[in-house]
Amino acid sequence: MKDAHRFGIVGILGRPNVGKSTLLNRVLGQKIAIATPKPQTTRDRIKGIRTFDDWQVVWVDTPGIHEAQTKLNRFMVELAIGTVADCDLCYVLVDAAKALEALKKTAAKGEGGEATEGDGDRVLAETRAIVEHVAAAKKPAILVLNKVDKIADKSQLFAVIERYSALYPFVEVVPIAARLKGAGSNVDALLAATKKHLPEGQPIFGADELTDKPMRFIAKEIIREQLFLQLGQELPYSIAVDVVSWEEKGDGLVVLHANVHVARKSHKPIVVGKGGAQIKAIGEKSRSIIERLVERKVYLDLRVKVDEGWTER
Ligand code: GDP
Ligand code: MG
Repeated sequence: MKDAHRFGIVGILGRPNVGKSTLLNRVLGQKIAIATPKPQTTRDRIKGIRTFDDWQVVWVDTPGIHEAQTKLNRFMVELAIGTVADCDLCYVLVDAAKALEALKKTAAKGEGGEATEGDGDRVLAETRAIVEHVAAAKKPAILVLNKVDKIADKSQLFAVIERYSALYPFVEVVPIAARLKGAGSNVDALLAATKKHLPEGQPIFGADELTDKPMRFIAKEIIREQLFLQLGQELPYSIAVDVVSWEEKGDGLVVLHANVHVARKSHKPIVVGKGGAQIKAIGEKSRSIIERLVERKVYLDLRVKVDEGWTER
């Protein structure tokens, strides 16, 4: 039996300089498709997409967390935490070479008999601060140990794995060297691990022409998918989604009007649900997915219209 298609959003977390940008460029490779359904709003948020035969992944950078904490800027912190909350999976990226150096220093101090906090603990604490956000959001996370090319004796990596994997119940630990090209980077192993831990779902983006897919189209696809997912067997045979308007307000709000067209009067209550609960749930979920893609507050006005013959037109 063929496995179900997978789709998911992966948040890349890590301290500055651990290699986040390098990793992104590596995983995107030649198939780079900068996802800018709305360049002015998502440029700094969605970094890239890769489409495979049976899965699609969207990598999202989460700058804010570290910087926000140092500046004690609550709004930024909340934004970054929100990003983690919206991800299906997180990478917690660590500079393994730096981590190892720090652990060695701590060990050396330990031998000197002083029970002071060493460099190893300090460097570890930096990652722990990031992991706390992942833990709060209860997200599956992969511990990605980068820059392993800088560690000559690979057996020393175990000390790093031991200390860092204790921070969280990571679903996988993958050592990589993002800067290296080809098999030496071990990035294929990271991709395989990523796929394994993404939820089932249909691709949201087309395999190409990502840059000129208008956001309206993407919104329509998202709403359509939610109709399929949430109505399941009850889905009327003839149903269509029409995004009537997409307006970006000055204060960062996106106001979106969309109609769900059904062909028969009797279909309307199925889609609307008891007291409007069904359409509300479909709208809520669609809205949250669109919000995380455009990084803006979205107001979605979703209505069900009976319109015989609409789908033919
Ligand atoms: P970011 O701040 O997390 O985005 O980190 P960057 O991707 O900008 O990388 C920071 C530095 O680490 C750059 O000089 C990279 O070339 C270097 N770097 C990244 N990945 C690796 C790696 O796998 N091995 C080595 N030796 N250096 C790396
Ligand atoms: Mg960077």
